[in-house]
Amino acid sequence: MRYVILSDVHSNGDALRTVFDSVDFEEVDKVLFLGDAVGYGAEPNEVVRLLRTLPRPLLGVRGNHDKVAGGLESDEDFNDDALLAIRWTSSALDAVGATFVRELVRGPLEVETGVVICHGSPHDEDDYLFDQEDALLGFAATGASVVFFGHTHVPSLFTWYRRNLDGGRLRGDGGVLQLHRNRRYLINPGSVGQPRDSDPRASYMLFDSDSNSLRWFRLGYDVASAQQKIRRAGLPRSAADRLAMGV
Ligand code: ZN
Repeated sequence: MRYVILSDVHSNGDALRTVFDSVDFEEVDKVLFLGDAVGYGAEPNEVVRLLRTLPRPLLGVRGNHDKVAGGLESDEDFNDDALLAIRWTSSALDAVGATFVRELVRGPLEVETGVVICHGSPHDEDDYLFDQEDALLGFAATGASVVFFGHTHVPSLFTWYRRNLDGGRLRGDGGVLQLHRNRRYLINPGSVGQPRDSDPRASYMLFDSDSNSLRWFRLGYDVASAQQKIRRAGLPRSAADRLAMGV
């Protein structure tokens, strides 16, 4: 099965449109979405529309921003700027958008035997998986061979092989990685709409579970357009500023 893997779009329609324009859907069977369709950005309904009208089936899990925007959870854990943005998002979402984010399921979700998706970590959908210590908890919580996760907005790859943990953040311009059958993986494709690894380019991956090959992409998009929409909507300035820096 061939998948395109997206995470943390955060209402950034400019970034998501650019990603979809570059994906050859003839070479994709399914789209995997790791959560946080909305929050921070100015185009929540447009992002939902794009995710709902794909030429291939979408399998997705919910993120913490989706839960709050969908009314499933309170916003008490959000910092000031995230809070302002999520309140704006909740009121801006139309009925279709609100239903979409509310109906995203809790991860982890097995998309095929041995391949799992989640938002934060396999052991807790809201936990952050940044480093090897976090990865150890993640590997302990699942028997899956390949887990895709999001939430940190940092492209990462951790491996577990013969009781050895390795890996961490991915750096660079993208590329091809060949996975091994007898190893286990925790993989973060990075964020489409709000990268936080000091690289403002949208980040996503393609995975072929038959050949076990993984391709990581970094893609420049019209950041100024996304920023302008955020400012015009009256959303926090920080949500616009950070897009240019990738933080
Ligand atoms: Zn997020």
